[in-house]
Amino acid sequence: MTTIYLDNNATTRIAPEVPNEMLPYLTDLYGNPSSMHTFGGQLYRRIEEARAKVASFIGAEPGEIIFTSCGTESDNTAIMSAVESHPHKKHVVTTRVEHPAVLNLCRHLARKGYRVTFLPVNSLGQLDMDALLKAVDEDTAVASIMYANNETGVIFPIKEISEILKKRGILFHTDAVQAVGKIPIDLKTLPVDMLTLSGHKIHAPKGVGALYVRKGTRFYPYIIGGHQERGRRAGTENVASIIGLGKACELAEKHLREETTYLKTLTDRLESALLKCCPDVRVNGDINNRLPNTANLSFEYVEGEAILLRLNEYGICASSGSACTSGSLEPSHVLRAMGVPYTAVHGSIRFSLSRYNTEKEIDTVIDLMPGVIRALREMSPYGRQTIACPPE
Ligand code: PLP
Repeated sequence: MTTIYLDNNATTRIAPEVPNEMLPYLTDLYGNPSSMHTFGGQLYRRIEEARAKVASFIGAEPGEIIFTSCGTESDNTAIMSAVESHPHKKHVVTTRVEHPAVLNLCRHLARKGYRVTFLPVNSLGQLDMDALLKAVDEDTAVASIMYANNETGVIFPIKEISEILKKRGILFHTDAVQAVGKIPIDLKTLPVDMLTLSGHKIHAPKGVGALYVRKGTRFYPYIIGGHQERGRRAGTENVASIIGLGKACELAEKHLREETTYLKTLTDRLESALLKCCPDVRVNGDINNRLPNTANLSFEYVEGEAILLRLNEYGICASSGSACTSGSLEPSHVLRAMGVPYTAVHGSIRFSLSRYNTEKEIDTVIDLMPGVIRALREMSPYGRQTIACPPE
């Protein structure tokens, strides 16, 4: 059975060009980039080349890129750096729909005595901009607001947000893990102070990420030790993966424009066909302001896990916003923040595509889904009754 992988917001296939580039650094070129001898020291230059590729992809300067181990580390570093370097400020702003990498750190800060504002979203997943304006004050150490949502694909107005925050002198971090590689980002024209990206969401390996820190931003390292990354992130560099990330950024930069169009065409084809051929389906999120690869659909009166298990039998990989699939017992905090009814949250499925998906794969899913949904509805425990979400 061949796999149809439609779970690219969870992780992506490594681009075939990437391991080729990495291989020498996993075999013969095993030196330490900090060594004085040429055997190790030559790797320092390779890391700097990768840094330049990552920087170029997002319109940054190479010196503004810090390599990390993942998106989570970059998010944690950004927020902790902001609070550590502004010790008199005790307020943090974020949103109710962030990835746990931000959300749970902010909850941790709240337990430590910080005042944390979790901004609400509306039923389309759009950020409440009035709430943002009301929330920030001179006590705000940082606002961490994601670029695009991993579950719904909804894109926040990052340019507008960054300009509002800049005017008020508030440090701004954006988690752009899902946006990088899917939509153009140019930090020359976007006044964010810090931005997170992750290798495994853009066809590079797992275990490597980057944090952009705008030149002149006060910075306090999160991992303290040696002098690597100019003292901003200690630990011997993951040379091969950093080189892989550089290559993945180079590829993404070259193909972004046509890929965006391709992904949108495939995603729209899937979504509109499913809306047409399955009754009682709703789209979650603002379809006019969404990543080109993400469709989040709720199949009312069916359990998301049950759909996933059926799809899994056909080799189709997607993910659900209901309990258990992410190892959590809670239904999606994102869909709940949007006020999606309980039955719709539990029947939600996220399809997330990549450049490696084909029209044929999408058509296979379109052919199979109505039968899967019909069969499951016949044995649904809910009946045809919409239930409001219990309060958080
Ligand atoms: N932020 C967002 C929006 C994500 O989607 C993810 C991963 O799913 C992360 C952060 C965490 O990235 P990583 O898996 O590289 O730690």
